[in-house]
Amino acid sequence: MSLQDFFKQDKLTISFELFPPKTEAGENSLYEHVARLMEFSPEFITCTYGAGGSTRGKTLEIIEKVKSQFNVPVASHLTLVGSSKDDLRGYLQKAADQGVDYIVALRGDPPKGETAFTQAEGGLQYANELVELIRAEFSDFGVLVAGYPETHKDAVSPEIDLDNLKRKVDAGSDAVVTQLFYDNEDFYRFRDKCRARKIDVPIVPGLLPVTSLKQIEKITSMCGAKLPAKFTEALSRSDDVEDQYKAGIELAIEQTTDLISRGVEGVHFYVLNKSEATCDILDAINMKSVS
Ligand SMILES: Cc1cc2nc3c(=O)[nH]c(=O)nc-3n(C[C@H](O)[C@H](O)[C@H](O)COP(=O)(O)OP(=O)(O)OC[C@H]3O[C@@H](n4cnc5c(N)ncnc54)[C@H](O)[C@@H]3O)c2cc1C
Repeated sequence: MSLQDFFKQDKLTISFELFPPKTEAGENSLYEHVARLMEFSPEFITCTYGAGGSTRGKTLEIIEKVKSQFNVPVASHLTLVGSSKDDLRGYLQKAADQGVDYIVALRGDPPKGETAFTQAEGGLQYANELVELIRAEFSDFGVLVAGYPETHKDAVSPEIDLDNLKRKVDAGSDAVVTQLFYDNEDFYRFRDKCRARKIDVPIVPGLLPVTSLKQIEKITSMCGAKLPAKFTEALSRSDDVEDQYKAGIELAIEQTTDLISRGVEGVHFYVLNKSEATCDILDAINMKSVS
């Protein structure tokens, strides 16, 4: 089924995002977690593309295994970092030969140690150019792009960031998956502004449950997402990891339920190669029975 058709269905489109594990043990346990996640009949599973280049070769390997073991549509993330146009074409051809269904088309962040994105020699500058290349030369792929409810960190202004998102959509993206966020009001404002600009493809919230105080610090430093006070308060109530986990899951259930009640076409979970938190949330909102 095409990406657009998934989102047109009457049911919520569920997707999960993995990253290429760095060790063999990590890879072995990954498939056990994916097996659990499959109980929720996801429409597709994606795998990230390493910023520094170290795990790049692994992305296609992981999604090939996920597709063949679980018979689920898969998406490869792809960034412009360090790649010429011919490198990108080579990757896309390999992905097509392997039966990858969708591409998450991204600019990418600078590799560790560098502060700004630099266009590779013979490469591309912005994600909209990658969408154009895919549409022109690999038109069978469904295409997802990234959106930022709290505005991308390099953007000149929120309004210009939205104009740039529109470029990606006008270039032929099928849906937008958002950066993680914790205040749904940011998402609703973003969605309204997208609609006002005639960005009419599905806008899918990207969700990463916070399940420990330690994780809060990491998340906010990683992508700058702001965390409403209620999150820090709820997770600070106890030093016990189990209590913190329960508090985080309660908040994630609340966040997800609210998004569903306000008509999102899908939810995309950053599962971080684990299944427990996402399964607990989807179980609580009874996703098994509606799939
Ligand atoms: C769902 C999701 C998945 C991700 N997966 C990965 C991954 O697998 N690997 C990885 O390394 N990173 C990943 N990222 C992070 C992403 O690569 C970074 O956020 C990166 O800094 C921006 O990528 P982009 O595709 O949004 O860039 P772009 O859409 O190109 O935007 C980058 C910046 O340039 C501006 N801009 C865009 N187009 C133009 C234009 N035509 N002219 C002028 N300015 C423009 C935008 O406003 C923005 O500030 C992901 C992010 C999300 C939300």
